[in-house]
Amino acid sequence: MNDGLIARIRASAEALRPQMGAFLGELLAIDTENPPGRNYERCVRFLGAKMASLGCEVEYVEVPEEDLAALADESKGWPRHIVVGTFAGTEKRPVLHLSGHYDVVPAGGGWTVDPYGGAIIDGKVYGRGASDMKSGLAAQIYALEVLQHAGIELKGTFVSSAVPDEETGGETGMGYLVRSGRLTKENTDYCIITEPLDPDMICLGHRGTLWFTLAFRGVQSHGSMPSKGLNPIEGMRRLLERIDVRIRPALETVSRYPVSPEGSRKSTLCITTIRAGSKVNTIPDECTASFDWRLIPEQSAAWARGEIMAICDDLVREGIILGYSYTPIVEANPTMVDEDQRLVDALKACGRAVLGRDMGVNVSPGMDDQRFAVHEGGLEATVVYGPGRLALAHTSDEHIALDDLVTGVTILAATAAELLGVRE
Ligand SMILES: [Zn+2]
Repeated sequence: MNDGLIARIRASAEALRPQMGAFLGELLAIDTENPPGRNYERCVRFLGAKMASLGCEVEYVEVPEEDLAALADESKGWPRHIVVGTFAGTEKRPVLHLSGHYDVVPAGGGWTVDPYGGAIIDGKVYGRGASDMKSGLAAQIYALEVLQHAGIELKGTFVSSAVPDEETGGETGMGYLVRSGRLTKENTDYCIITEPLDPDMICLGHRGTLWFTLAFRGVQSHGSMPSKGLNPIEGMRRLLERIDVRIRPALETVSRYPVSPEGSRKSTLCITTIRAGSKVNTIPDECTASFDWRLIPEQSAAWARGEIMAICDDLVREGIILGYSYTPIVEANPTMVDEDQRLVDALKACGRAVLGRDMGVNVSPGMDDQRFAVHEGGLEATVVYGPGRLALAHTSDEHIALDDLVTGVTILAATAAELLGVRE
């Protein structure tokens, strides 16, 4: 990447700073809370219109009914939309695809500004999704505009997409985009997911996720004669004890990968809901609990599920519970791609040129849409880089500094120029 090109991209991004902030403010003012999945069509039309204004060929996709079965009840009846903008360069390949999700988690309480006001105060843009991750979507689109404004013509093809439902698992967003063949290793050379993993960090992967519910069956009886019944709450207590004996050692293993924050560098298994009983003097016949287990890249979802079910089978065999049912909610393997590849080299080089120092490399504690591109699209050249900050995601008064947005846009624009080549 030559210094002259970087200087032109930087100057162009700086010149477009006010428009970028205003565009993000408008995007944040569209309430796309998920669940249930509000205003999705309005949001993709807003993004698509901007892409079209830059000369992109825009495709609007409505996810077919049969693919919506994975959605939870509260999202049923709300249509799911995707938008893909393609800016063809002078050559078909390589293709760089930038993708982000436009759904946001519900605003919740504790805000001192309107979460859907899109206010800009002291150089920061406020709103639900400011960090996670409408700033990423704004950066994808402005990366192209910055290049055009600087008079830089790309050789390869620049694709930008916005998908829904990442916050509820992504099957009906990025999952559909990949499975419908729009993002695979056959038609794409590089992919950057613009999630907020910090504007000076390149994220190579994420932990795996096993979300599940266990329902333990017992035998109802009078509370004064518990020996006539079988208490499934006791069964749940025994399960937790055995998790400590059998699984805890594996939870103490520190990953060799740089998962951040440091407290998430191990596997974490939490019981998150528990329900049982209806009356103080009755032994209940059922106890249900849900669990959130995050897996380091060294572990697999199948292994984790097997560990839990082995304990449950023992509890049945020993007569501690009558039976159980295991209901999967999300089962996603960890994702890790190689640091030693052209996409990462390009991001590092552009990051160094823009920031004046080396970018860091990390692994996300949660999961994101990267896994669909890598595992189902077969595209190893997929990483996460976006302008937002992880610590601000899902918080009250969520915001992004305009400085971070401009930095992210500049690095993405420079990386696109580096990977796709420019016409001199
Ligand atoms: Zn996100």
